Amino acid sequence: MMNNNDKIYIPPLIDQSVFKKFQTLKLERKNEKIREKPILEAVKLVKYYGNKLIIPELNFKIDDIVGKSEVISLLGPSGCGKSTILNLIAGLIEPTEGALYTYGNKIDGPGLDRGMIFQKYSSFEFLNVLENIAYPLIKVKKMKKSEAFEKAKHWIDKLYLTGTEKKYPRQLSGGMQQRVAIARTLCMETKILLMDEPFGALDRKIRWEMQDLLAEILFFKPEQEVTVFLVTHDIPEAVYISDRVWIINKGRLLSEDFVIRPNKESRSMQYEKDFIEMVNVFNEKIYNLEIKS
Ligand code: ADP
Repeated sequence: MMNNNDKIYIPPLIDQSVFKKFQTLKLERKNEKIREKPILEAVKLVKYYGNKLIIPELNFKIDDIVGKSEVISLLGPSGCGKSTILNLIAGLIEPTEGALYTYGNKIDGPGLDRGMIFQKYSSFEFLNVLENIAYPLIKVKKMKKSEAFEKAKHWIDKLYLTGTEKKYPRQLSGGMQQRVAIARTLCMETKILLMDEPFGALDRKIRWEMQDLLAEILFFKPEQEVTVFLVTHDIPEAVYISDRVWIINKGRLLSEDFVIRPNKESRSMQYEKDFIEMVNVFNEKIYNLEIKS
């Protein structure tokens, strides 16, 4: 029997031109028009759980691009602190030291400007689809019921949920349930969308459909500017949907790479040479982290 030390590892050959492409993309993005205040800024962010250091010191700044949504994916070995970073941005947990700012305002708890979507569906079992989506508009934004339902219906259509308005969460497939969660968040016009393994429980085909849908609402037929932070362990998913890919290790931001924005459906992109090369680059980076740690 082979033990871990006997594992034969043959790294794939990676086309070096792909690195040059990363650089060019970064320069192209520099020409985009940005607003004065960053959408999100982390300043000397430190997080301990008990006496266990999870985030040693994290600093980053995400500019608010005029007229464009942006997706930032967080990749890294399990337990490296990705969900912790998302929870800090959501305001669900407090930093031990340092702070996060959105448009210059310190984050000190959950807020309407940030929506979170988890892997597990998180809607109300006793409300139907329409009521679930309209619920925060009525309860939190104090919108009139008729107005809230109208707005909810708009997002029901955008997320291809038409016909399910009267159904209850248990009557929907996993993919549909996640679409309800996305619709509810977008209805609130959140500026920051935090997604923690949102498609992790879905099979490959539905996962691709969800990635296509996300690409459609963010890039192909955008109605709102949203900055998305996506935690995923699926490298092709990160390469497909992202503008930037962050690799996190032991709570540190190890690297940031700019990737090509989606320009066609996810499944077709998986076969393209550049796409495969990019996936290989990230596979290698993460594989090397996993064997070192
Ligand atoms: P990832 O999302 O990258 O898998 P997490 O952010 O979930 O990593 O976790 C980072 C580390 O923090 C892990 O070692 C995990 O066990 C620990 N951790 C997460 N949440 C808590 C908590 N509420 N209390 C104590 N430790 C935690």
